[in-house]
Amino acid sequence: MTLGPIGGSSGSDAIRAVEAVIATASLCRQCIVARTALPDRDVEIALRVLIRTSGVQLADVCDSCDSASTAFTGPMSNRDTTASAS
Ligand SMILES: [Zn+2]
Repeated sequence: MTLGPIGGSSGSDAIRAVEAVIATASLCRQCIVARTALPDRDVEIALRVLIRTSGVQLADVCDSCDSASTAFTGPMSNRDTTASAS
């Protein structure tokens, strides 16, 4: 039983690519696939890893296609934490 990736370094490359496209926008999985040109399965795996390790959050709406499916956004887009006007 091996736990490591079999196909080389494509896994971490996929994670970086996904992380890059959601760093500045909320995107659903389909749009992430379209923007990264990665296989859907690689995007799904990368998202799971990022949610656990990089604080990627879920959003309600995709900024790109306005679909109501679950979107993903990077941990740095925390606009709502300090936005309350005093
Ligand atoms: Zn979308």
